[in-house]
Amino acid sequence: MNGHYAIAIDGPSGAGKSTQAKRLAKEFSFIYVDTGAIYRTLGLACYRAEIDRKDAAAVMELLKTLDISIRYNEAGEQCMLLNGEDVSKEIRQPEISICASDVSALPEVRRFLLDMQRRFARENNVVMDGRDIGTVVLPDAELKIFLTASPEARARRRLLDLKEKGIEESFEDVLRDINYRDEQDTKRAAAPLRQAEDAVLVDSSDIGFEETFARLCELVIRRLAAVRED
Ligand code: C5P
Repeated sequence: MNGHYAIAIDGPSGAGKSTQAKRLAKEFSFIYVDTGAIYRTLGLACYRAEIDRKDAAAVMELLKTLDISIRYNEAGEQCMLLNGEDVSKEIRQPEISICASDVSALPEVRRFLLDMQRRFARENNVVMDGRDIGTVVLPDAELKIFLTASPEARARRRLLDLKEKGIEESFEDVLRDINYRDEQDTKRAAAPLRQAEDAVLVDSSDIGFEETFARLCELVIRRLAAVRED
C-alpha cells in the first residue's frame, strides 16, 4: 500500500465496468480512472492520421508526438484531452472502439501508457477500470473485481447506451464488435484480458444494475474494513 486505496475493475467490453466504477467512486469518494479512454484517445489519433494501427513503429512514432492527458471537469467527470482538444465524446464512436482495441494490442503502447495510469493510483484513492488493472497496472490493489456478462447481454446494454448518446447501430453490428474485441483482448500476447487470481468474479448477465452495484459496494466495504484492521 502507498497510503492510498486502489480498487481494480477488469472485464470484457460492455460488462458495465465504467458505469459501476463511476458510481462506486462517487459512493466512496474515490477518483474514477477509465483507462480504456486513454487507449481510445490514441486510437482516435491513429484514425485521424490514417496510420496502420497494427504497425507498432508507426503508432509509437505518432504516440511520441502526442500530448494525451486526463482532466476532471467540475462535475468530477473524466475528460480526455488530445493535444489540448477535448475528445471525450468523439472517442465513444463505435469505429474508435475498434481502433482502441487494435492499438492496445501493441506491447510498446501498453508500456508507454503504464506510468500515466500508475501515477493516478500513487496520488489518489482510485477506482480504476480496464482489462489489465488487477494483473499488470495495479497488481497490489486492495480489491480486484472481474466484472463480466454474456456477449449477448453486453450487446443489448451497449445498444441502449449508444441509443442514449444518439448513435444508431444494429444489434448484429454491436455484437460483432464485442466479439471482435473479446477475441483480440483475450488472445493478445501483451497483458491479455484475464481474471487475476485474487480477483472476485461478478457475473452480471442475469442481474440488473442496482443489484450488481449493491454486490460491489458490499465487496468494497468488507475489503476496506479488513485492510484498515491490518
Ligand atoms: O474499456 P473500453 O471499451 O473503453 O476500452 C477500449 C479498448 O481499449 C478495449 O477494447 C481494450 O482493447 C483496450 N483496453 C485495454 N486495456 C485497458 C483498457 C482498455 O487494452 N486497461
